[in-house]
Amino acid sequence: MPPCNALIEKTFSHLPETPLSYLTTIKGVRVWVKRDDLNHPTISGNKLHKLKYNLLAAWQSQQAVISFGGAYSNHIAALATAGQLFDLITVGIIRGEELHDKTRWSPVLRRAESDGMQLHFVSRDAYRNKTNDAHIQAIIRHYPHAAVIPEGGSNSLAVNGVAECIKALKSQCHAVPTFDPQHTALFSACGTGGTLAGFIEGLYQFDFPIRIVGINVLNNDAQLQTQITQLARHHPAVNWQLINQYTFGGYAKTPPELQRFVTDIQRQFALPLEPIYTGKLVYAVFDLLNQHALPNLHDAIIYHSGGLR
Ligand SMILES: *Cc1c(COP(=O)(O)O)cnc(C)c1O
Repeated sequence: MPPCNALIEKTFSHLPETPLSYLTTIKGVRVWVKRDDLNHPTISGNKLHKLKYNLLAAWQSQQAVISFGGAYSNHIAALATAGQLFDLITVGIIRGEELHDKTRWSPVLRRAESDGMQLHFVSRDAYRNKTNDAHIQAIIRHYPHAAVIPEGGSNSLAVNGVAECIKALKSQCHAVPTFDPQHTALFSACGTGGTLAGFIEGLYQFDFPIRIVGINVLNNDAQLQTQITQLARHHPAVNWQLINQYTFGGYAKTPPELQRFVTDIQRQFALPLEPIYTGKLVYAVFDLLNQHALPNLHDAIIYHSGGLR
């Protein structure tokens, strides 16, 4: 086994057990936060779990890893940092030709470059047709042994990594007084759906019959539903649903009402949030509980997927 493979294994086997913290009670429902933003100092949150088996697979054949994202992608940031930590070549194919101009770089891109990621900027048209686009295919051919990971890191290896998180969550829940899986729901923010698919698989694998609710943060209802259905092999056996009414206009749209909510939550509960994923998630959970929209619920668990900078 190459030494870095052992380093990846060791990193993942030494991750701390992140807290399941009580937050508040809303209309009789206890609200908890699973603080996976605290799982790693530099690759925090769900992206770490999504990368685990992708990194191991890449190391097995000493490959480079190629992936896709926008200028603010948490997946690109996580992959670049992982490449730096585990000595892998990483390549980012980034949406937006205007980013050839370095003065327009986001903090994610500056950090990715300093972590050693090789960046290629492509037009929005090319990005949209990434599987057929000649320019993008030429970039990929340039790295003949590279593993290609889809946008957001959502593939079946990511599902396997996220599914493992359910094991620890299950034992933490069983330590909560009067906990009953039949009256518990896990809430998670959905972008590309890989994380939700991983949780669905994990609930099945670890025989943990709580329900799961995905809060869509993008305007992509039909596509997201399909993607989750394809990625989660055992989805018919799990009680899951997607809620699409808290997108706040779409990805990265953060109207003042949402920003005020995020600031209020940080002030009231000392819970760090960002408006793109976890802000919309917590807003949705509070709103759904206040409206009694989820009958028979005793405990609501919010999955904190990180994304803080
Ligand atoms: C990427 C991301 C998500 C969404 O994960 P998907 O697997 O793409 O659905 C949620 N929260 C944060 C903080 C993220 O960075």
